[in-house]
Amino acid sequence: MARHTKILLGLIFGAIAGVVCNKFLHGTAFLGAVQKYLSDPLGKIFLNMLIMMVIPLVFASLALGVAQMGDLKRLGRVGVRTFAYFLLVTTLAALIGLTLVNTIRPGDYLPAETKTQLLDAYSDQAAELRNTAQKTEFGIQTLVNVVPRNPFSSVARPSPDMLALIFVTLVVGIALTQIDKERAQPLIRVLEGINDVTVAIINLAMKLAPYGVAALIFSVTSRFGFELLVALSMYVITVLVGLTLHQFGTFPLLIRIFARYHPGKFFRKVQTVMLTAFSTSSSSATLPTTITVSQENLGIPPNITGFVLPLGATMNMNGTALFEGVTVLFLAQVFGVDLTLGQQVIVVLMSVITAVGAAGVPSGAIPLMILVLGMINVPMEGIAIILGVDRILDMCRTVLNVTGDITCAAYIARSEGVTLKL
Ligand code: ASP
Repeated sequence: MARHTKILLGLIFGAIAGVVCNKFLHGTAFLGAVQKYLSDPLGKIFLNMLIMMVIPLVFASLALGVAQMGDLKRLGRVGVRTFAYFLLVTTLAALIGLTLVNTIRPGDYLPAETKTQLLDAYSDQAAELRNTAQKTEFGIQTLVNVVPRNPFSSVARPSPDMLALIFVTLVVGIALTQIDKERAQPLIRVLEGINDVTVAIINLAMKLAPYGVAALIFSVTSRFGFELLVALSMYVITVLVGLTLHQFGTFPLLIRIFARYHPGKFFRKVQTVMLTAFSTSSSSATLPTTITVSQENLGIPPNITGFVLPLGATMNMNGTALFEGVTVLFLAQVFGVDLTLGQQVIVVLMSVITAVGAAGVPSGAIPLMILVLGMINVPMEGIAIILGVDRILDMCRTVLNVTGDITCAAYIARSEGVTLKL
């Protein structure tokens, strides 16, 4: 049975089991124990096994990608195209979100009592998030931190600074192209070794995927307050319509125009990636699958996947930018904060910038988004209103985040004269 079929079965099984338990066993000690001792740890172990390999994988594949690009001129060309593509498509996504939220105005549909209930129910979680957000340095210091004083300490912490890692890796890769070929060989060999071992470990972890995915989804659905989806239906619909438009409207256009590839075939070839992203809610955890599938199914060469995909998993988050635009404006509507056109432009800009800075882990976007709320005078605690539905929306937006990365890699491959696998 193909891997994606098994993952899909795991996903369906976990989701159905979770919904049934939610309906009949909600609040029982038995369900609590199943979640605490079975589904939560199993899901976390699976996710951790993937995420623990992300730092070595990003370092080895990106440094190799740069080193194998050959000369700096080619690297410059590919680099400029990649970043321009990321920025343009992410801005487009945020604009789709902005247009929808202004047209549908989901904030006007939220009853006052639901608002109060949600603010109460999630107040502790929101206060905690606000405190973390306020400690997050965001501004010119963020830019300075991209060039770390100590590259080891910037990654040796619970939430590694991926932008710093990327900067150091790019510099190492560039330096490899600057020294004598023979002298560069030993380090290139080591990087290839790290890359191979990382991929082998990830392949082992992916054997667990059907079970890990079932556990992850069970943990979400068995706890989920489905009535919340109804209470917040207009907001959820706005986000989902936006994500669908971008996934099945913008992406097919880009695939056709830039990668000159058949969109239907493209989606079929990358379905394992979409499934993994949906079930893990993490671009980083999906990165290994994104790289393997792009190489094996689409025939994108390793030097391009090695360059574009690690960058994309960290910096290119279309779904997140769209979600942020909708959420920030939705909360502004709920709290009756009228935004001028100028302020809305700032929201779009900040959605793009924070999507670049957000970590590719579940709910990675939330802390930075809270800061954006503060900038436009919407109470930061207001985030409480959407926390209950965030995980489900996160699963959906992460699918766009990784699909967007592959569309970019396919475009770059085409622009470099590669013929993609049909
Ligand atoms: N979960 C998302 C990702 O990994 C980030 C986010 O939007 O919270 O791509």
